[in-house]
Amino acid sequence: MIDPFGRTVDYLRVSVTDRCDFRCVYCMAEDMTFLPKRDLLTLEELDRLCTAFIDKGVRKLRLTGGEPLVRKNIMSLIRNLSRHLNSGALDELTLTTNGSQLAKYAGELADCGVRRINVSIDTLDREKFKKITRWGQLGKVMEGLDAARKAGLAVKINAVALKDVNEFEIPDMMRWAHGEGFDLTLIETMPLGEIDEDRTDQYLPLSLVRRRLEEDFTLTEIPYKTGGPARYVEVAETGGRLGFITPLTHNFCESCNRVRVTCTGTLFMCLGQEDAADLRAPLRASESNELLSQAIDEAIGRKPKGHDFVIDRRGGKAAVGRHMSMTGG
Ligand code: SAM
Ligand code: SF4
Repeated sequence: MIDPFGRTVDYLRVSVTDRCDFRCVYCMAEDMTFLPKRDLLTLEELDRLCTAFIDKGVRKLRLTGGEPLVRKNIMSLIRNLSRHLNSGALDELTLTTNGSQLAKYAGELADCGVRRINVSIDTLDREKFKKITRWGQLGKVMEGLDAARKAGLAVKINAVALKDVNEFEIPDMMRWAHGEGFDLTLIETMPLGEIDEDRTDQYLPLSLVRRRLEEDFTLTEIPYKTGGPARYVEVAETGGRLGFITPLTHNFCESCNRVRVTCTGTLFMCLGQEDAADLRAPLRASESNELLSQAIDEAIGRKPKGHDFVIDRRGGKAAVGRHMSMTGG
């Protein structure tokens, strides 16, 4: 799949549910209304959809959400999808998780051929963790990380940089992550969906975080790539890798290789644009994949050049109405 700007699309992110057992302040409102179950693709439909994309050249598949591991029977989908790893059609099957269910599933994930996972943790302080996630428990996530290590899964920690919240904790988090053998990637908050708070209060530019880190650490740019938009540095003092995802201070759209499907089968060609294509109707219209394949081609043919995230100019308002939990991180 090649888009109008010559970019090869070989990375698919699939949100398998919009539900979550956390309510992170930058991601959701506390009283979120979730989609009615009948609107969701079944696990069989999700498998068919992913397989259609793999047939079209997707080499990397990431399951996300909401929280992917709270979807009922999710392991049956993952086990089925692992056939594409075994056949060599897929290079990587991975997921982004809040870690709450990882203690239960880490072993089985490894058994299904998952090699690396992203776990989101924004703070190592139990109280702060509770404040940020509203419903989460850091202890459970730490148990999950232990299980992941025992299962041999490589872990990357994702942390959203939040002004006044974890702003001054970032060096400690980095020392901890690197000490545990985990990569750490910092993410700028993106204006996605209405939340209960003002986003301008949360936004912390990573350019500032990096300048501060450079006062105490030696950061060397490295060409390491994971298929995502992070740019990596190596930290001499810790020997670990630190990634920066900077949709606001540095637009990374020129090398974008991915598209996203929601749990209702809506294909978003760009995280920061409203344009989308419905894949559920062609998926359900026939048992063959012809209509589905056509709909995918048409959508890739209009993948936009990039997003337009600007937090200060929007006065903290959302750039697009949908939440990250719907499109998937
Ligand atoms: N529930 C899983 C988790 O938290 O890892 C997967 C889905 S979550 C939407 C994926 C990632 O998006 C998480 O790392 C989360 O911190 C991040 N995220 C959510 N809302 C965001 C926002 N408005 N700006 C930047 N990152 C956001
Ligand atoms: Fe749930 Fe992940 Fe959103 Fe937090 S960031 S509310 S864990 S979907």
